[in-house]
Amino acid sequence: MSDSSPTPLANGVSSPKPDYKPRYIDIGINLADPIFRGRYHGKPRHPDDLQGVISRAQQVGCTKLIVTGSSFKSSRDALKLAAEFPDTVYTTAGVHPCSSSIFSPSHHKHHDESQSEGEEAAEAEQHTPACGPDPTKPILDGDGVDHARSETIISDLEKLITEAPKSLVAFGEFGLDYDRLHYCSKEVQLHSFAAQLKLAARLKPQLPLFLHSRAAHADFVRLLKEAFGEQLENLEKGGVVHSFTGTVDEMRELMDLGLYIGVNGCSFKTAENCAVVKEIGLDRLMLETDGPWCEVRPTHDGWKYLLPPYVTPKETVASEPVSDVASGTATPAAEPAAVQGVAALSISDTTVPTPAPESQGQGQESSAANEGTNKQRRPKQKKTPQPPQSSKKNPKKKEPEVPERFKVVKKEKWEEGAMVKGRNEPCTIERIARIVAGIKGVSEEEVCEAAWKNTARVFGVE
Ligand SMILES: [Zn+2]
Repeated sequence: MSDSSPTPLANGVSSPKPDYKPRYIDIGINLADPIFRGRYHGKPRHPDDLQGVISRAQQVGCTKLIVTGSSFKSSRDALKLAAEFPDTVYTTAGVHPCSSSIFSPSHHKHHDESQSEGEEAAEAEQHTPACGPDPTKPILDGDGVDHARSETIISDLEKLITEAPKSLVAFGEFGLDYDRLHYCSKEVQLHSFAAQLKLAARLKPQLPLFLHSRAAHADFVRLLKEAFGEQLENLEKGGVVHSFTGTVDEMRELMDLGLYIGVNGCSFKTAENCAVVKEIGLDRLMLETDGPWCEVRPTHDGWKYLLPPYVTPKETVASEPVSDVASGTATPAAEPAAVQGVAALSISDTTVPTPAPESQGQGQESSAANEGTNKQRRPKQKKTPQPPQSSKKNPKKKEPEVPERFKVVKKEKWEEGAMVKGRNEPCTIERIARIVAGIKGVSEEEVCEAAWKNTARVFGVE
């Protein structure tokens, strides 16, 4: 762009000033997942490219990464990453609802998988808990809670948190997920959440909370209030409810309680989701990718905000210049907005089957990174073809293309510097900001700056 005037984008939104350099903090990135070391299902598929993932994030202005700890192992692994990438990687520590079966008497392994050896250690190289809901296989209540074990878990968690270096900036991820009762029963989830909230409340000093709530709003708010007071007046450092996909009323109640709302690709799936995002106050917004999960897909309602200005949503663009995403050929980001550093990038390919059934509703936190990565714990999901968006059979009638910033290849064809198809990573956070800006009708600069300031203030990561 040689012109200094703001570029009008789709939906009447203005792009930031040309001299504005976006800055992002990804508040929820599962960077301790072995997939970022090239390991899928415990098997090496390509070289460790974590450094590349972090460097791509830095190239788009995402200079701070808060790595999610969702179990003992991932919390410890996140701390190791923080030591490896000081001032870039920060961490959280907690027990995710999907990892909460460790509180149950039928759990036969050590709750801290880092302590396991041999076969268990191999099994411990599991991926982060992200998966589609499997409503056909809920673990029902009745197993109860192992209270002696629970005491040990909580005291081990307290030790982990209080002994952690300053890179640990939040307590979490923890909460409730009633969409995914196939990992852990409601009864045990409620216990896990309440027990961790109690610990969070008595820590001195307290930590901000990194919370997860899915299809469990009433119980979620009730337990928070039991731990921190009716107005959460005893919650000293605040907190964020990440990967938000609830209703407008639920979101308003959380904001009224002083909580922040974390938004990622899952928050844009439907028009209803996007209507909720529109109502999030900029003073309560945080951005995340939740990689390797939760990428924004062409089937998402929010996708249209990524389209270049010369394309209107739902228009087919057979005659428009398109990048060769299907073959993974690099396409220089020549689109003006991309030059300004605000363009989205494409990691999804409209011609590739979607591993996870989006149609199962918004309960799932994510679709998979390449064929799913959690063999043992994820329900088998059939590969379903992408819903035909441009109903015509003419292969030239492609969906409108979203400009890509980095080359994208399949993991089998991994190459240095390229993103891996289906493995969401923090550099895509610019898409999240762009979509929020489009939905709210504000500039990306406003979105980026608000989210940065909120995050820096709550988590103290600046
Ligand atoms: Zn979550």
